Amino acid sequence: MKIFNSIKEIRKEISREKQKGFTVGLVPTMGYLHEGHLSLIKKARRDSDVVVVSIFVNPVQFGPKEDYRKYPRNLKRDAGLCEKEGVDYIFSPSPKSMYPVDYSTFVCVEGLTENLCGKFRPGHFKGVATVVSKLFNIIEPDFAYFGQKDAQQAIAIKRMARDLNMGAKVKIMPTVRDADGLAMSSRNIYLSPKERGKAPTIYRALQEARNLIKLGERNSNRIISKIRVKLLPAVTKIDYISVVDLSTLKDIKVIKSGVLIAAAVWMGQTRLIDNIIVKG
Ligand code: AMP
Repeated sequence: MKIFNSIKEIRKEISREKQKGFTVGLVPTMGYLHEGHLSLIKKARRDSDVVVVSIFVNPVQFGPKEDYRKYPRNLKRDAGLCEKEGVDYIFSPSPKSMYPVDYSTFVCVEGLTENLCGKFRPGHFKGVATVVSKLFNIIEPDFAYFGQKDAQQAIAIKRMARDLNMGAKVKIMPTVRDADGLAMSSRNIYLSPKERGKAPTIYRALQEARNLIKLGERNSNRIISKIRVKLLPAVTKIDYISVVDLSTLKDIKVIKSGVLIAAAVWMGQTRLIDNIIVKG
C-alpha cells in the first residue's frame, strides 16, 4: 500500500494502473475509520482491481461554528486498517493543495440539498459536492462508494455524477451499526458515556416508525410525532425528523410508496444523523 499526499503523483500512479487495464474503486472518507468505512472498502476490494481510499477532512463542508478543527484525525491508525483490508492507495492531500488561496469553483446539486441537513448546515452539501467532484477528477474511478448513513449526501452525489457525466458509477452501501443499533460514525467518540447510552434511541425510534407504516399508518405527521415523543427524553435537541420521497428528498404528507425517514439530533455538543428506508 502506498500513501500519496501529492495530487500530481497519485494522478500519475493511477493513470499507470489504468493503462494496464485495471479498474479503480474509490472510497472517499474523512478518516478516523470505523466498520462503516471498512464495509465500503471491502465492497470496493471485491469490485475493483485497484482500491483507493481518500482521507481528507474537507474544510469547505464545515460551517464556521462546526467541528472542523476538532474532527478526529489519526492517519497512522487509518493506514493500518486500510493495509489490512488490502487497500492499494491512500490519498491524503493537504487542504492547501486542494484549496489554494485563490480557489473559486464550487458545485451545487440543486433540489436535493435544500431539505433535511441542508436546512441546518448551509453550504455543507456545496462543500461535499465540490470535494467529491475534485476527487473524481483526480482519481477518475470506475466505481465510488458511499454509505446510506449519509443518505442525502449519497443521493446528491449520485445525481451529480449523472448530471455532470462523470465516469464513476456511484454505489450506495447499507448503514453499519453497533450491536445496540447506533449507526457508526467518527463523531460517536465525542459522546459521553451517558450520551452514548441514550444514542441507540435514534435507531429504535426509526424502527418504531417502520413498524407503524407496516401496520398501515400512512400519515407522516403522526409518524413524526411518535418519533419525536420517543426521542425527546433521550436527546438535547432535534434538528429534524422527516419523511421524504426517496428520489426527490421532498417531504411527503401521505405515504404511498417507499420513503426515507431521516432524523438529525444533538446529544450534548454532538450532532448525530440516521435514517431508514421503508418500502411502501
Ligand atoms: P465520513 O468519513 O464520515 O465522511 O464517511 C465516509 C463515507 O463512509 C461516507 O460515504 C459515509 O456515508 C460512509 N459511512 C460513514 N458511516 C457509515 C456507516 N455507519 N455505515 C456505512 N457507511 C458509513
